[in-house]
Amino acid sequence: MSKRSLIIIGVLVALIGGGFLLRGKIAVALMERVLVKTLASDPIDALPDGLHVGLCGAGSPLPDADRAGPCVAVIAGKKLFVVDIGDGATRNLSLMNLGPARVDAAFLTHFHSDHIDGLGGLMLQHWGGSAQRPLTVYGPPGVDQVVFGFNTAYALDRGYRIAHHGPKVMPPEGSGGEARPFPIDAAHPDALIIDEPDLKVRAFLVDHNPVEPAVGYIFEYKGRKVVISGDTKPTASVQAAAKDADILIHEALSPELVMMMQKSAAKAGRPNLAAILHDIPGYHTSPEQAATIAQKAGVKMLLLDHIVPPLRLKALEGPFLGKARQIFHGRLVIGTDGDFFTLPANSTAIKKTRRL
Ligand SMILES: [Zn+2]
Ligand SMILES: [Zn+2]
Repeated sequence: MSKRSLIIIGVLVALIGGGFLLRGKIAVALMERVLVKTLASDPIDALPDGLHVGLCGAGSPLPDADRAGPCVAVIAGKKLFVVDIGDGATRNLSLMNLGPARVDAAFLTHFHSDHIDGLGGLMLQHWGGSAQRPLTVYGPPGVDQVVFGFNTAYALDRGYRIAHHGPKVMPPEGSGGEARPFPIDAAHPDALIIDEPDLKVRAFLVDHNPVEPAVGYIFEYKGRKVVISGDTKPTASVQAAAKDADILIHEALSPELVMMMQKSAAKAGRPNLAAILHDIPGYHTSPEQAATIAQKAGVKMLLLDHIVPPLRLKALEGPFLGKARQIFHGRLVIGTDGDFFTLPANSTAIKKTRRL
C-alpha cells in the first residue's frame, strides 16, 4: 500500500472516529433542525388542492403492531377531518404531521369502544394548539353522551392545565369537545352534514346490528369522492353510497382466520375468548364481500381497513384476501397505518405515499 493511500485511510478513520464520538451532538443538531422545520410549516398548505386520505388507524380492538385503532384522516382543500379516533390514532396523526390541533372536526361512525377510545387524547391535543373553541364532534344520536363522558373524565386534567400554563396558553373556552348529533334513522337513512359549494359530507345508515345507529360517510370535494363504510356487515347502502367513488374504504374481516383463532382459543381452554371470536364475524364484512360491493359500485380503488385479524406475516395477506383480487378489478390495498392517498381536484389520479 502506498504512503498516500495510508494517509487517506488514516484521515477517513479519524473522521469516522470523530463522527462516532460526536454522534450525540450531531443527533441533537439534526433534531433541532427537523423540529423547527416541522413546527413552522402547515403540512396541509404544502398539499395540492384536492381530497386526501390518510390512515391514522387501520386496525381493530385486536392488538396489531402495524395498525392503531380505527381512524381515517380526510383533508378536503384546507380542512382536516378525522373519521373515528381509536386507541393510538392521535399519536399517529402527529407522527403523520397532521397535527391534532389542526383538526377541524371529528366524525364518529358508531360508539363501539375501539372507534372512540382515542377521543380524549384528540380533544386534549386540539386544545393544546390554543384552540378557542372545543373540538366539533359529529355523530349519530348518542354522540352527545360520549362527548359529555369524555369532557367529564378530563375535567380534572382541564383544571390542572389551566392552572399550570395559564388561560392565555390553554384558553378555558377551547377545551374538550362539542357534540353535534345529526338525526338519522330507518325513516331518514341519510344526513347532509356539511353543505358548502365545494364540499359535501353526508352520513348514511349501515348495518352493524345490534349497534344502532351505525353510519358510514361520504366526502365529496371538487369532483373527487371518498366513501368510508364504518363497521358493517355487507350492506346495499354502502354499495349505493360508493357509486363511482374514487376510493371506498371498507372494513374487512377474514371469517376463516377468525374461525381458526376461535378454534385455537377453544383448544387452549379459553372458552370466553372463543365465544367472543365466534360472535365477531356476524356483523362485519369479509374482503371478498367488500370486493363484490366495490366492483358493483364501480369504485376506482378499494382500501381495506379495520383489518381483522392482525396480519403478523406478509404471507397471511393472500389467505386474508381470498378471491378478493379476482372479484374486484380495480386497485386493492390492504391498509396500514401511515398510508396516504392524494386525489387532486378535478382529475382521476390517485397517488399513494407513506407518512409513517
Ligand atoms: Zn370496530
Ligand atoms: Zn363496531
